[in-house]
Amino acid sequence: MKIENSVFVVTGGGSGLGAATARMLAAAGGRVVLADVNREGGEALAQELGATVAFAHTDVTSEESARAAIARAVSEFGGLHGLVNCAGIAPAEKIVGRDAPHRLESFARTINVNLIGSFNMMRLAADVMSKEAPNEEGERGVIVSTASVAAYDGQIGQAAYAASKAGVVGLTLPVARELARFGIRVMTIAPGIMETPMLMGMPQEVQDSLGKTVPFPSRMGRPSEYAALVRHIVENSYLNGETIRLDGAIRMTA
Ligand code: NAD
Repeated sequence: MKIENSVFVVTGGGSGLGAATARMLAAAGGRVVLADVNREGGEALAQELGATVAFAHTDVTSEESARAAIARAVSEFGGLHGLVNCAGIAPAEKIVGRDAPHRLESFARTINVNLIGSFNMMRLAADVMSKEAPNEEGERGVIVSTASVAAYDGQIGQAAYAASKAGVVGLTLPVARELARFGIRVMTIAPGIMETPMLMGMPQEVQDSLGKTVPFPSRMGRPSEYAALVRHIVENSYLNGETIRLDGAIRMTA
């Protein structure tokens, strides 16, 4: 699918990987709705990138809010061809200890944002995409979600996060198979350690030690490297139903 003149919704587009993706899509001639609860980041980026990018204050866990973000793409830019699910939270919490009575609520919140939020956006986006005119390949849309290497290799404190991301990996193939008849592809990226506000809040020595768990290149991944993979997925119509790790062959040990 061509990015130029196609319309995308990018959740979590106000920060980190979503913001890098929005920059890439806008630079390649796409139209973008940034769907994020982060009003400050989203509005600033939309203003910086100009008339082809709009911000929609969106909570991906809400049906009404997700519908409104997708409707904004249609009303502002005339349709919907791509969804990039980047919205996510990564609370680090242990199961036992002082905060234990709050764990269930917090577990549910992580599943709600990362897994149910991604699915919520997917199903509503697919409904609109399925009514688009197909391109010469018969393609109507592409959906890219964001899992994590934690889906395969979760660390202590990542029970909820790892379970939510394993869910995103699990959604990918069945949804791709179901949407194939509409010409909609579904892919997932499982990043390792990426240099975004989500990780940059950690102490420097933790960041350094995380970087050393990457065999090559021995550093964190760049948001631009995530965006480059989104671009490749959008443009390569033969990629479907797969999760691609973007992690420098990271192998973490507990
Ligand atoms: P980030 O914190 O910079 O950005 C996440 C964005 O999601 C924020 O702007 C936040 O406001 C938004 N968001 C959170 N809850 C939301 C909700 N309910 N509705 C709408 N927006 C919401 O983090 P990031 O590193 O750019 O993360 C992007 C995605 O990549 C996440 O799903 C994260 O789990 C995943 N990921 C990140 C890394 C990493 O190392 N940074 C690694 C693996 C996976």
